[in-house]
Amino acid sequence: MKTIGLIGGMSWESTVHYYQIINRTIAERLGGLHSAKLLLHSVDFQQIAELQRADHWEEAGANLAEIAARLEGAGADFLVICTNTMHKVVPAIEARVKIPVLHIADPTAVAIKEAGFRRVGLLGTRFTMEHAFYRSRLEEQHQIEVLVPSAEDRNLVHDVIFGELCLGKVEEASRASYRRIIAGLVERGAEGIILGCTEIAMLIQDRDASVPLFDTTFLHAFAAATHALR
Ligand code: GLU
Repeated sequence: MKTIGLIGGMSWESTVHYYQIINRTIAERLGGLHSAKLLLHSVDFQQIAELQRADHWEEAGANLAEIAARLEGAGADFLVICTNTMHKVVPAIEARVKIPVLHIADPTAVAIKEAGFRRVGLLGTRFTMEHAFYRSRLEEQHQIEVLVPSAEDRNLVHDVIFGELCLGKVEEASRASYRRIIAGLVERGAEGIILGCTEIAMLIQDRDASVPLFDTTFLHAFAAATHALR
């Protein structure tokens, strides 16, 4: 079994789910008392969130690249960044280490294509919905068309992530807003919805949408576990 290097804490609320999904998947595959071999470096998310807000992606990338190098030195065989947003700095990490990064958009794209879909809606932080790093990977490498909510609704989705979900708060009013936004994306032709932020599954489940949901936390963690056993 390979050793997984997790860069987590963004937020820790979702890293908990990575830990559970990875271990449960390994246990189901191998049986008995088997569990995952993994190293977790969990950051102080306040510091990372401040760098995101200030648009200091280079510094944020240098921070995560340093962590990646430490995980590599400690014996990780591959890396898993437990957030969609911070995949923006994957190039800085890849430039620093020799071990591969398991990109969160890739298992997500595989699941979308397995469902036979070509056009999906994307919910995530403003960075994930608006910057090119995430959408272009889906569009150019996987030929998946990506729809995002209006600017006003992108702000709402973003604010719920940082003001509630990353703090462990699940609010009924926010669920209602997300349901409305998802319905709008479906009306515009989305065949499925990417929960493109690792905390959104705390708020939104299958019953909240009329189309299939692609939960990046589950898909990424499951892919990590299966890759560790490959
Ligand atoms: N966990 C979230 C994501 O998947 C947001 C936290 C962050 O900005 O890293 O994008």
